[in-house]
Amino acid sequence: MKPAPPSHPTAVSAARVSSGRYSAWRLLREGFNGQRGWSRAWAKAAPRPRYRVVIVGGGGHGLATAFYLASEFGISDVAVLEKGPIGLGNVGRNTTIIRSNYFLPQNIRFYEFSLQQWEKLERTLNFNAMVSQRGTLNLFHTEAQRDLFTRRANQMRLLGVDAEPVSRADVRSLVPLVDLDNGRYPVLGGFLQRRGGTVRHDAVAWGYARAASDAGVDIVEHCEVTAIRRDGARVRGVDTTRGYIAADTVCLAVAGHSSRLGALAGLTLPIESHVLQAFVTEAIKPVLDVVLTYGAGHFYVSQSDKGGLVFGGAIDGYNTYGQRGTLPMAEEVAASAVTLLPGLARLKVLRQWGGVMDMTMDGSPIISKTPVEGLILNGGWCYGGFKAIPAGGITTAHLIARGEPHPLAAHLDLGRFAAGRTLDERGAGPFPYAH
Ligand SMILES: Cc1cc2nc3c(=O)[nH]c(=O)nc-3n(C[C@H](O)[C@H](O)[C@H](O)COP(=O)(O)OP(=O)(O)OC[C@H]3O[C@@H](n4cnc5c(N)ncnc54)[C@H](O)[C@@H]3O)c2cc1C
Repeated sequence: MKPAPPSHPTAVSAARVSSGRYSAWRLLREGFNGQRGWSRAWAKAAPRPRYRVVIVGGGGHGLATAFYLASEFGISDVAVLEKGPIGLGNVGRNTTIIRSNYFLPQNIRFYEFSLQQWEKLERTLNFNAMVSQRGTLNLFHTEAQRDLFTRRANQMRLLGVDAEPVSRADVRSLVPLVDLDNGRYPVLGGFLQRRGGTVRHDAVAWGYARAASDAGVDIVEHCEVTAIRRDGARVRGVDTTRGYIAADTVCLAVAGHSSRLGALAGLTLPIESHVLQAFVTEAIKPVLDVVLTYGAGHFYVSQSDKGGLVFGGAIDGYNTYGQRGTLPMAEEVAASAVTLLPGLARLKVLRQWGGVMDMTMDGSPIISKTPVEGLILNGGWCYGGFKAIPAGGITTAHLIARGEPHPLAAHLDLGRFAAGRTLDERGAGPFPYAH
C-alpha cells in the first residue's frame, strides 16, 4: 500500500504568504530580530481540481517554465506537480556546470541565450544562486582534436560568443595541478570559455520555486502523476496520488522519466534512460579555479566553494531508473582523474551519487508539442540540461503561452526524428549511450 501523502498544515491555495524581498538590509534587520521575520520560501500548496496549465516535474525545467509562464506571459493559473520534494531530481544531482561552447549554430544560440539568462538570474529571482563565471577549459590531446576544437571555437566566435584557444603554457599557468606530460594522453593545449562556470544547483530549484510561488503558481510536492487522461486526441488532465487534476495544457518536464510519462499518454519517445554518476572529495584549500574537462576520456572537474572537488564522467551505459551507479564506471572516472591530476590520488572521495538521464537518439533535447493536443514535452536533456534551465524554461513557457515554438528552440521539435533532421552535436550516430 502506498503511504498517505504527508499533510501540510500550512497548505495554501488562496491565502499565499510571500517570502518578501531578500536584501542585505533585511539580513541585518533579522539579525537584530532573532531571525523571527522569515517566512517559507515557497508556499506548500494543496492541489486544486483544475488549472489552465499543469507542469509535471518540480526540477529545474518544470519550475523555470512555471516562473516564466507567470512572469513573462501573465499565466499564473499553473501547478507544478512533483512526486517528492522539489530539487531532489537531477537539478540537485548534477555537477553544476554552465557553458555555451557548442558546435551546431542552433545549439550555440540556444545555450548562449541560457548563459545570458544565468548572468542576470540572481537579480531576476532575487535569490543568491552563487553563479560563478570562473571559465570552462577543455583540454585537447591530439592534433585532430586541436582541429575540432579550433573549428568549434571559430563557429562560436562567428556567432559572437566568447571562445579562446589556450596554449600548453597557458594551461600550466591556469591549472598548475595538471600533469601536461602524463604518459597516457599528454596535453597539447586547450579551449577556454571564460564566461562558463558553475551555479549552485539546489539554489536554482529553490530560487525558481520561490519566485514562481510568489508569482501565484501552486507548487504541489508529494504529488505523483500516475495517469494522463485523454479525450480522443486531446489531453484532459492527470491522475495523481492526490486526486484527479484537470488542465487545458499538461507539460511533461520529468527529465529521466520522460519515456515513462510519455507512455502514460500513449506516446513512444525516442529516449532511453541511463544513470550518470558524480563524485565529491573531502574539502581542501583552493587549487582549481576553472571548470576543467579532459579531452581524452570523459572527465570534468571543478572545486566547490566548500573546497571539495566535484567531478564526473560518462553514463554507465545500461538502461536503468536506479539512481546509483556501478563500480566499473567509478574506476574509469578515477583513472581519468589521476591521469590528468595525479595529486587527486591523495584525496578521499566523500560521496558518490547517480541521476537518471533521458538520452535521446541524437543527443539533443526536445521542447515540443506532441501528437496529443495540449500535451507539451520538455525533456531529452541527456548530460546537459542544467545549463539549459533558464532557456528551457523561457522557450517552453513561450510554446505553452503562444502555441508556437520560440525561435531559439524551434529546432528542438519532436518531429525532427521522423523527418531525419537530427541534431547530432558530437557526430556520435543514432546511439543514445554514445552522446
Ligand atoms: C551526475 C550528473 C551530472 C550532471 N552534470 C551536469 C552539468 O554539469 N551541467 C549540465 O548542464 N547538466 C548536467 N547534468 C544534467 C542535468 O542535471 C539534467 O539534464 C537536468 O537537471 C534535467 O532537468 P530537470 O532539472 O528539470 O530534471 P529533474 O530535476 O530530474 O526534474 C524532473 C522531476 O520530475 C519528477 N517526476 C518524475 N516523474 C514524476 C511523476 N510521475 N510525477 C511527478 N513528478 C515526477 C522527479 O521527481 C524530478 O524532480 C547532470 C546530471 C547528473 C545526474
